[in-house]
Amino acid sequence: MKRGFLNGAKAKRESQLRDESDSMVHTTIGDDEQVSECFFHHGTKEAFMKIPNFPEPLQVTTPAFRMVDIPGKGAGLVSIRELKMGDLILNERPLFVAAEELCLAIPPKGEKYFEASLDRMRPEAKTAFMALCNCHKAEENAGGALVGLGPLLGIVNTNGVSLSLPAAADPWPQGGQTRPYSAVCENISRLNHSCSPNTVPQFHAASFSWRLYAARDITAGEELTRQYVSIQHPAAERQAALKQIYDFVCACPACTDPSISDPRRATIAAFAATHHGKQESSVVGFSSLDNDRFAECRTQAELIESEGLQHLPVYSTVLKLLIEASVVRMELSSACQLARKLDKCRWVDDRDAYQDHPLWRALVG
Ligand SMILES: [Zn+2]
Repeated sequence: MKRGFLNGAKAKRESQLRDESDSMVHTTIGDDEQVSECFFHHGTKEAFMKIPNFPEPLQVTTPAFRMVDIPGKGAGLVSIRELKMGDLILNERPLFVAAEELCLAIPPKGEKYFEASLDRMRPEAKTAFMALCNCHKAEENAGGALVGLGPLLGIVNTNGVSLSLPAAADPWPQGGQTRPYSAVCENISRLNHSCSPNTVPQFHAASFSWRLYAARDITAGEELTRQYVSIQHPAAERQAALKQIYDFVCACPACTDPSISDPRRATIAAFAATHHGKQESSVVGFSSLDNDRFAECRTQAELIESEGLQHLPVYSTVLKLLIEASVVRMELSSACQLARKLDKCRWVDDRDAYQDHPLWRALVG
């Protein structure tokens, strides 16, 4: 999102941000392997330090990707081997994490908020940070005014991944208020956008790291992608948001021909809205579904898979409903098939409740 320099209203906002930034702290989280430089509100780091053995070590992964130039997109990541849905592709701590309101700050003073964090980075981390793309470079407009962001704000706004972190030293991650932060990563920030992404990043609090999972089976040589904007919206809205925030045009199949995709995504979005926050399924209780609801859920699962949206929470919701209803209907072959799919959704936080149930392993096999 390109922004101009200060006017009166912006100067006031900049002053408020400066006051707020005075109450924040530069801090480092990590171990000998990888560290994150953070610009935190007071209380955020304290919340993490209450996690036993924080930070847990990163998980070891088999090399699964390399960086290449993608025609029309610039740098991106491609798989170097076949990946199965649910495979852990990489596990990394962010290079830099900052409160989101500072990432939206106004240049040139906004730039100064991040300079101290950059100065604290290890040389290799600083090099990796500065090598990331900046689609908000400051440049003169037709009227000769300088628009755009400084180098650090530009990189953060181009590459930041949204993240909710604790607002105070409350119990975490079970409860407490959160604040929006933005995390810049060496590799995950290199993933290009797709409206049908084949990876899903999950933030793991205990190790202060992002785990990137394959959202479906991926062939060797396939580009790895993640979602930048809300991909349930119609193609025209997605394109407008991507152009405004990231300055590119998405050429994925769902954007190229939205005539089939847009109605499908509208149906999925409506179903997701109906089920948002509901506790309809419980593996302990095994909820049933009447024939119409059962058929509707089956259709939803097929639509989500057709659109390549398995990473969305609605996918695990519909799988859970179908698993339980299939068990109640004694359709155990179908229940097993569905349970194996849910078992691969390793980015879903509440899979643990299922894994603890004695029937779960029998279903997954
Ligand atoms: Zn697209």
